Amino acid sequence: MACQSDGCLGDRFYVLLTCHCEERSDEAIPDNNVKIVPMKPNTSTQPLIEMRGVVKVYSTAAGDFTALKGIDLQVGAGEFVGIVGKSGAGKSTLLNMITGVDDATRGEVVVHANANSVSVHELGEDELALWRGRTLGVVFQSFQLLPMLTLVENIMLPIDLCGSFHPRISRQRALELLRLVEIEEHADKFPALISGGQQQRVAIARALANDPPILIADEPTGSLDSVTAEHIFEVFEHLVTEQGKTIVMVTHDESLAARFTRTMRIADGELDSPPERTLNEAKRRTKDASGLDMREKNARSTRPSARRAGRSRK
Ligand code: ADP
Repeated sequence: MACQSDGCLGDRFYVLLTCHCEERSDEAIPDNNVKIVPMKPNTSTQPLIEMRGVVKVYSTAAGDFTALKGIDLQVGAGEFVGIVGKSGAGKSTLLNMITGVDDATRGEVVVHANANSVSVHELGEDELALWRGRTLGVVFQSFQLLPMLTLVENIMLPIDLCGSFHPRISRQRALELLRLVEIEEHADKFPALISGGQQQRVAIARALANDPPILIADEPTGSLDSVTAEHIFEVFEHLVTEQGKTIVMVTHDESLAARFTRTMRIADGELDSPPERTLNEAKRRTKDASGLDMREKNARSTRPSARRAGRSRK
């Protein structure tokens, strides 16, 4: 059964959330209920994501505009890749090529995950929705929570749409994810009743709903104040080091550049290619650059006022 919702979800979130599921019996759902067409077996030496000569040309009233000019990018499992660039550089377009939300004009994106290798832009619409639901979690700058659902329901929705966990345990899983991002106590509130930082925590939990190996983050700290942004960034770091996730994040924020395990820069639709580093090296560089670890800095800047105000976490 195709379980796409109606258009009320709107915009890109709708496209990314949409996922197929089978008719469910009351039996436990087998792990292999998602049918992804295997192209070739995965091996540990393969990168998780490969972009090969990806070109994106938009046709506009003023003529064709080339937003990506032949992107070659390989992302390995466990990397926290940051792509930094100014507004209009092509960051969101690049992410849309990985998620398959938009067609590539030329080139190929291959994702080797969940024991399958998939050429993203060769999948049909239904296969793509199915693959995306299991493989990628996406976090946006504007959170994109559904306002009429509580926080826990916002996370249960993609779980139930994709059928990757049995409906009987979807609430329990959603609560566990809210606990992971330290906001479980607000589970039954509506999004309008929590802060932006808290909404972004929920959006991250929602991105993890179907346990995807890859998280794609489009300016996830762009709407947040610097202290809250730091907390959210630490959640992403934790997901790499403790949960084994692979993250590709785009940002215009140069101050984050030293924090990724690898930072690429994008300008006018072209990427540079700097060296890789481990997350520990990235953290050390941040500390060296500022003379103070970001975590210490954050604790110093927030602890006294938070204690005084008795505020909940951002
Ligand atoms: P960034 O995310 O770095 O701000 P984008 O990837 O959104 O940049 O856009 C890159 C360039 O492509 C910009 O010049 C933008 O105006 C253009 N662009 C993006 N989407 C479209 C579209 N649908 N039609 C035409 N031009 C677009």
